[in-house]
Amino acid sequence: MSPSKIMTERLLVTALKGGKNTKIITLIGKKIRKMPSTLGKLPGLRTLDLQNNLICKICPELSALTQLTLLNLGNNRLEELPEEMKGLISLKSLHLFGNKICRIAAGVFDGLQELMMLNLNDNRLTSLPQEVGRLKKLTRLSLNHNQLTTIPEELFSLRHLSELHLNYNQLMCIPEEIKLLRNLQQLSVVRNNLEGLPEGLCHLRKLRILDIAGNVIQTFPDGFQDLRLSEFYCEGNPLFLTQPNFATQHRDILTLREIATRCILLQLEEDHPLILEAMEYYPEIKDIFSQAKQCAICRKPFFSEWVECVQFVSLPKNWNASKNLQQIPLRILLCSYECFDQRDTNVFGVFEE
Ligand SMILES: [Zn+2]
Repeated sequence: MSPSKIMTERLLVTALKGGKNTKIITLIGKKIRKMPSTLGKLPGLRTLDLQNNLICKICPELSALTQLTLLNLGNNRLEELPEEMKGLISLKSLHLFGNKICRIAAGVFDGLQELMMLNLNDNRLTSLPQEVGRLKKLTRLSLNHNQLTTIPEELFSLRHLSELHLNYNQLMCIPEEIKLLRNLQQLSVVRNNLEGLPEGLCHLRKLRILDIAGNVIQTFPDGFQDLRLSEFYCEGNPLFLTQPNFATQHRDILTLREIATRCILLQLEEDHPLILEAMEYYPEIKDIFSQAKQCAICRKPFFSEWVECVQFVSLPKNWNASKNLQQIPLRILLCSYECFDQRDTNVFGVFEE
């Protein structure tokens, strides 16, 4: 038996003598390969810190630790979070950073009703189970350095979430539903593949720190300038920073589909009875109409054809922003070149010649 293993056994024997009175076990960097099954005999345990070991499996006995509030299994060799973990009904903090986790059993999150902090940085997750939405008390969630391509809708039901870290993943977009996270104060999505930010983000009145460095964002949604940020980082994005060239004048040639859709959208705004009645028969049309946008100048609706513009607004006073940002480029959509001709002097066309 190796000296470190003997020491581990000794520590556990001492802990066992304490029985129900043992509250804390800390075995950091002891080269432990297997979780000690004797843990199951310490139901009064509150803190279990086994970080920096070589553990590759969570033992079933862990589920007996119903009073455990802190579990640290960071920097081990775990590949999976098994169902048994749902027995940890008092757990508040769970550290699982630096493992090889690629699977989370669906039921795990069912039991973790008290969990407030979850750290899954540096793992191999390609997706999150939708059950993440059951962690109702979660305030901090960290998923940096994984391989996530999407965020499950259920995450947006976590109303107490105040910190969300998704740096170094492969996200293409942030869903509009982000607006439901009303208590969000910190959002970091450094080094993903984001092409833009959702309008829903502009509804987050408590957001103070936003880090979007290293994405492919060119403009921000209208309303972004009203956020009450204290820190904003946006280095490494191809932002529109200089005023683009004026475009040559084009004539509006809209497709028949666009013309018909605009016509119906207008009548819908006026509650035209015939249109409302027809909608009942074609529910799939509602989806199309929900994607309608509004012209920034005439306020009339349009559907999928527009004139893309950028409007520069000055940086709000209290924002402590990246140095590359002097003015905020907002994405502005117009229904036609007719409206384009009536734009303000700080609105510029963004289109290919
Ligand atoms: Zn217009």
